[in-house]
Amino acid sequence: MIIDCDNDLQLLSRSCDIAIIGGGTVGLTIATSLSRAGFDTVVQESGGEFFESKSQSLNDAHVTSRPHAGIRDGRARVLGGTSTLWGGQLVRFSKLDLSDRPWANSNAWPITFSELTPYYKRVAEILGLAPYFDNEIAIWKRFGLTLPIETSDCEFFVTHWLKEPNIARHFSSDIRELTNLCVALHAHVTDIRCDEGSDSVSAISVHNGRGTSILLKPRVVIMANGTIEISRLLLLSAKLNPKTPWASNKWIDRGFQDCLDLKAAKVSILDKRRFGDVFDNIFLGGFKFQPKLRQSDEFLAKNGLLNIACSYQIKHRAAEISTKYLHSLLFNMESVKIAP
Ligand SMILES: Cc1cc2nc3c(=O)[nH]c(=O)nc-3n(C[C@H](O)[C@H](O)[C@H](O)COP(=O)(O)OP(=O)(O)OC[C@H]3O[C@@H](n4cnc5c(N)ncnc54)[C@H](O)[C@@H]3O)c2cc1C
Repeated sequence: MIIDCDNDLQLLSRSCDIAIIGGGTVGLTIATSLSRAGFDTVVQESGGEFFESKSQSLNDAHVTSRPHAGIRDGRARVLGGTSTLWGGQLVRFSKLDLSDRPWANSNAWPITFSELTPYYKRVAEILGLAPYFDNEIAIWKRFGLTLPIETSDCEFFVTHWLKEPNIARHFSSDIRELTNLCVALHAHVTDIRCDEGSDSVSAISVHNGRGTSILLKPRVVIMANGTIEISRLLLLSAKLNPKTPWASNKWIDRGFQDCLDLKAAKVSILDKRRFGDVFDNIFLGGFKFQPKLRQSDEFLAKNGLLNIACSYQIKHRAAEISTKYLHSLLFNMESVKIAP
């Protein structure tokens, strides 16, 4: 069920077992999973069902050091969150991503690689990824393709693309049909409170877009409102209530990752068949699997680098022709006048 708090914020006052702050990629995945397991779940989403600049402006931020356009252009305040912008490409972390990387001034994550690994299969089940491969090489083997040659510097991996990248559309039938799942739109969480001396969250404060607020007391609160907004909400709550247990937690506002994207090199292919065996996209069960190449953890650690991965873009004459054709089409369309 979807409710709109701009119409009636009191609708939220119904008792709620689990509150999930944020109806984006993570929030809707967790909410669906918990509701399917029988828990009463309410998702507080500050955006609306569709993109609107009023909600999007809640993402505004002032960047004080290097310019970072992603903080504005790379996040969406809408049901489905940033999955309304992404391509839906799923990829696992490598061991090194979670480890101590002193050369990059980056501490190890508070969870380990082996703690995380079993959950990939669980996520695959929730997202309905079938067939699911926990081992990249199995995909090539399944097709009887020539296996890529591993070196100590490079390794191959395969990304798995969702059929429907917008997570709100992906879970739309669950959102419509699960009676114990409520998605509240225009429900902007502004404060998380704990009772004095307690480690547990006692209440969350929710505002709608019309300036009205309500205090909710769910049994469990899950923050899924995006890495930057989670930090912002925790910092704001700690400012309002300086005795909150996380006020001195050193992890808040740290550990962000972003990716730089560039065209790195022109590659001349010597053996087209072999190249195709390794790098052609694979389609299986309606899913796209995209083979990629990354520097091995060993190489990254030895050279003091962060993650580096690449895929190949085939550029041939046909692509150039179609781009030229498109340009001429657009140009011609500009000169067309439509009669009133
Ligand atoms: C162009 C682009 C392509 C990308 N491609 C990929 C890809 O292929 N694969 C990949 O893994 N990643 C990709 N990413 C990154 C990926 O989209 C994000 O990492 C992912 O969506 C984060 O999920 P999330 O649930 O943490 O946050 P979001 O999806 O951003 O969801 C957060 C939700 O919380 C809501 N919210 C925020 N604050 C509050 C509040 N105080 N109260 C209530 N609600 C709140 C927001 O409105 C939003 O709906 C891409 C990103 C971009 C921009």
